[in-house]
Amino acid sequence: MIVGVLKETAEHERRVALTPEVTAQLVKQELEIWVEEGAGLGSNFPDAEYEESGAKIAESRDKVLSECDILLTIQTPDEADIKKLKKGAILICFLWALQHPELVELLKEQGITGMGMDAVPRISRAQNMDALSSMSSIAGYKSALIAANELDKYLPMMMTAAGTIPPAKTLVLGAGVAGLQAIATLRRLGAVVEAFDIRPEVKEQVESLGAKFVEVELGDDETQTEGGYAKELDKSKQELQREAIHKHARKSDIVITTALIPGRPAPILITEEMVKDMAPGSVIVDIASENGGNCELTEHGKTVEKYGVSIVGPYNLPSQLSLHASKLYSKNMVALLNLLLEDGKPNFNFEDEIIKNTTITHQGEVISPMLKE
Ligand code: NAD
Repeated sequence: MIVGVLKETAEHERRVALTPEVTAQLVKQELEIWVEEGAGLGSNFPDAEYEESGAKIAESRDKVLSECDILLTIQTPDEADIKKLKKGAILICFLWALQHPELVELLKEQGITGMGMDAVPRISRAQNMDALSSMSSIAGYKSALIAANELDKYLPMMMTAAGTIPPAKTLVLGAGVAGLQAIATLRRLGAVVEAFDIRPEVKEQVESLGAKFVEVELGDDETQTEGGYAKELDKSKQELQREAIHKHARKSDIVITTALIPGRPAPILITEEMVKDMAPGSVIVDIASENGGNCELTEHGKTVEKYGVSIVGPYNLPSQLSLHASKLYSKNMVALLNLLLEDGKPNFNFEDEIIKNTTITHQGEVISPMLKE
């Protein structure tokens, strides 16, 4: 079996799907690893390290595409690349199939088995394959560092001969994987942290990190799906939530927003009115910017100043920590491969919840229950 690894071509993408360390593990399992020249450079893994790990540096990108049985990438390859794959090849990467029906059609037509790293179920047995969590955690960490860097204040309390400086006040909206890591990082930097999420059960996790949970009375309606994801709030609840957030945001030096609803645009939690009310010099880092943003004034990929407040809409945060992001993604991916491979050959056991949910298309059919629904 030939496993191919491509150099990522998307803008702002520095990660690589397979590291030399994980390459060596796969080589021991008698898989042939073909890597496109320079694939690891964005994460500081030179070609020589892949060769030392037993991989072959392929003659060309096209050679990887046309010969491999399994292709590993981070971002979905473009249509031209997918058309160069052999019929029956397996593509494993972030596919976001729900949002891209045209991609699902293409994979079906080409007879490609598409496995989405974003479709790995969030169950305990799949924790070591959960690339969404690994990447979100990096995004949360990096968002706190960006915020600290933008702010013209200390984060910790400082007792100096010239006087005492109080700790910075910060607010984190959305306490999923990214939000919790942002809270932990802000706390490590010495800031006072408040946090809010519409899923009430995260209160305990927020408090265990030393932050205060902001209580908002949203009534008894369910705020989450059976799968544990947040639901979109109706208009009156959104208003209630914004009023509550407004009171806390106006007192905060930093607001980090991470709120997402699967398959929907990111909810607007910070309006223009709220930004106007924040102190000049405050900072908003909007991690949801790729999905439309949680702040009305966010511009994706830019840092803008509005009413004296810096609003950061960062590109691809995991890629900014490319070495560790690649290491974690690579380990997530190999855990999935190990589940899939039996005696070195793929075995699509659709009785297995992880294989069934992760496989988007196989032999020209849609497999994913999420897509069938
Ligand atoms: P996500 O990235 O989809 O969303 C980020 C956060 O935004 C979530 O906590 C969500 O509740 C919150 N949010 C949405 N709308 C909001 C609003 N209007 N106001 C405030 N907050 C809002 O979330 P995620 O980090 O990917 O986690 C999603 C689910 O998966 C959670 O239930 C999480 O506990 C679960 N999970 C389980 C595992 C596991 O191994 N069992 C691992 C990771 C995550």
